[in-house]
Amino acid sequence: MKQYILEMEQYAKEKNVPIIEKESIAYIMKYIKANNVKNILEIGSAIGYSAILMASASKEVKVTTIERDEIRYMECLKNVKKCGFDKEVNVVFQDALEVNLTGVTYDLIFIDAAKGQYKKFFEKFKYFLSSNGVIITDNLKFHGYVGKKETIDSKNLRGIVDKIESYVEFLKTNEEFDTEFIDIGDGISVSRRKNENK
Ligand code: SAH
Ligand code: MG
Repeated sequence: MKQYILEMEQYAKEKNVPIIEKESIAYIMKYIKANNVKNILEIGSAIGYSAILMASASKEVKVTTIERDEIRYMECLKNVKKCGFDKEVNVVFQDALEVNLTGVTYDLIFIDAAKGQYKKFFEKFKYFLSSNGVIITDNLKFHGYVGKKETIDSKNLRGIVDKIESYVEFLKTNEEFDTEFIDIGDGISVSRRKNENK
């Protein structure tokens, strides 16, 4: 499997697929082990790199991962098979905002899809979080652009940075969730439901 992981890293580099940084996935894998995480929902599979690593973190983990791009979805399926995780990783080919979930909850929801839609993902999927579950979001620094808008020429890119900044503000001022911001990799956040008895 080690070999396949290296090949995925190489593929991602060559084809410009934004896979998670090593420090961040290491943090998530450690969290999975330490908290006995079993059910994971991932928004944004790309080629399956983070889904496979999360599934490998501990024996009982099951991952459902959603991807809307067909080429990446196919690549993801292929990689999941190669690594022997077909039973643990369920890959869904759909836009996450159109997916219908019923009767399931997740101990960990990993948001790593379109950066402009983070708030929508959060608001949609928070209902599927188990009581002690967390929502982890990736790329809050957006490759170093967050907080440095004046250095960006592209209007599109500035728009995405705006959205990430307002997502961070949304998390900071959220009445239902407490969020910890962790400065590793490209910046991640860990959000937990506030204690209702407080
Ligand atoms: N989690 C992966 C990287 C994901 S990159 C890893 O670390 O290995 C983000 C992916 O999200 C892209 O492949 C993109 O096609 C997908 N995506 C973006 N918006 C989406 C949406 N609304 N629904 C499903 N997938 C989406
Ligand atoms: Mg990411």
